[in-house]
Amino acid sequence: MKKVLSFDVDQTLNVAKTPITLDVAKLLLRLLRADFLICPISGQKFDQFLVQIVDPLKKVGAEPADLRNLHLFVAQGTQYYRFGDKDWERVYNFPLTDAQVAEISSALETAARELGFWEEDKLKPGDEIIENRLSQVTFSALGQSAGTDEKYKWDPDCKKREKIVARAKELAPDFAYEIGGTTSINAFIPGMNKVFGMTHLMEELHVEKSDILYFGDMTQPGGNDYPVVMMGIDTITVRNHEDTSFALRGILGVVGALED
Ligand SMILES: [Mg+2]
Repeated sequence: MKKVLSFDVDQTLNVAKTPITLDVAKLLLRLLRADFLICPISGQKFDQFLVQIVDPLKKVGAEPADLRNLHLFVAQGTQYYRFGDKDWERVYNFPLTDAQVAEISSALETAARELGFWEEDKLKPGDEIIENRLSQVTFSALGQSAGTDEKYKWDPDCKKREKIVARAKELAPDFAYEIGGTTSINAFIPGMNKVFGMTHLMEELHVEKSDILYFGDMTQPGGNDYPVVMMGIDTITVRNHEDTSFALRGILGVVGALED
């Protein structure tokens, strides 16, 4: 039986950029209490992990003892947080330098502008397209707070983002670019992707590849979950959080923890 259940976040545990549903939260709480180590890994910032995952878990009754089985691999696992005595503590962090952030940001903006995909006029007040997430720079075509429908429609076949990536790679070739979420591109130092995160996860939690079951929606070549597949970790490809819930009910059923 697997010890670690690891999850991509957007489109795997939730509707992109929104909190997980209370139904998903209840399933995760049951898994935490059944002593699975639950390890979300995503390009998001730590604050987003709190809003999207931890707060809903607390709403369905998660206590500190439960949260100790929850391990947060933030910014694709280039930052790791665990629950200590009373609060979250950061175990490690591998940030980009200011010069690297500036180089990537400029390449993404130039690429998007040249291609006519720089949608500044569609941003909500205070929102931004390019965000420094410390260990990576993230391009979100319509900003962080655009509506879900609008985002789904923007680039359903990933073609716009593939073009932006191709051009950004010419402008700033020292960095790696990955397509994720519905409108996002993550840029980082090569190797600082989910392979980095999963490798550190195994080290920190003292587990082997074979102990892990990973869930992701972007497991195709070029997608941000693909590196995990390539590592040889058992992976379940899902279309959305409903698929994930279905699989989690199956796992809870097998270990006899689906019902009280
Ligand atoms: Mg995803």
